[in-house]
Amino acid sequence: MISERLFNELNKQMNFEFYSAHLYLAMAAYCAAEDFDGFSNFFKVQAEEEKFHAMKFYNYANEMNGRVTLEGMPEPQNNYKTLLDVFKIAYAHEKIVTSKIYNLTDIATEEREHATISLLKWFIDEQVEEEATFNGLIKRLGRINDDPTSIYMLDNELATRVFVPPVTK
Ligand code: MG
Repeated sequence: MISERLFNELNKQMNFEFYSAHLYLAMAAYCAAEDFDGFSNFFKVQAEEEKFHAMKFYNYANEMNGRVTLEGMPEPQNNYKTLLDVFKIAYAHEKIVTSKIYNLTDIATEEREHATISLLKWFIDEQVEEEATFNGLIKRLGRINDDPTSIYMLDNELATRVFVPPVTK
C-alpha cells in the first residue's frame, strides 16, 4: 500500500509529464512556423514520449488502487528566439524532470516502497537518455553555428524520428 504522500507525489509527476508533452508541442509549433519541419517532427515525437511517461504513472497509480487526478496545466513557453534557444530550454526542462524523479525515488526509498522504486528505476535510466539527446543536439547546433546547409541536413535527419513505444508494461 502506497502512502498518501507518495501517491500524491506520483500523481504530481504524472501531471508534470503531461505538461512536458504540452511544452514540447509548443516547441514543435515554433519549429513548424519557422519551416523546420524535421525539428518540428522531433518535438512532436518527444511529446508522444512524454505522454507515454505520463501514462506509465497513470497506469501504475490505477494498479495500486489509487485515484488519479488530472490538474490544469500552466501555459508553456510558446515563443523562442532560435533553434538553439529551444534546445537549451528543453535541456533545462529535462534536468528539472530528472531532479523530480530523484526526489520521488528518495521518498519511495524512505518509505521502503520497492515496487515504486522499481518503476522509478525505469525513469532514472530514461532520463539519462533524454538529457544525452538534448545535450547532444545543443552541441551539434553549436558546431553548425547557423550554417544553412548543415541546419538543412540536421532538419532532414530529425524528420526521420518516429515514436516507438518502449517494450515495457
Ligand atoms: Mg518525461
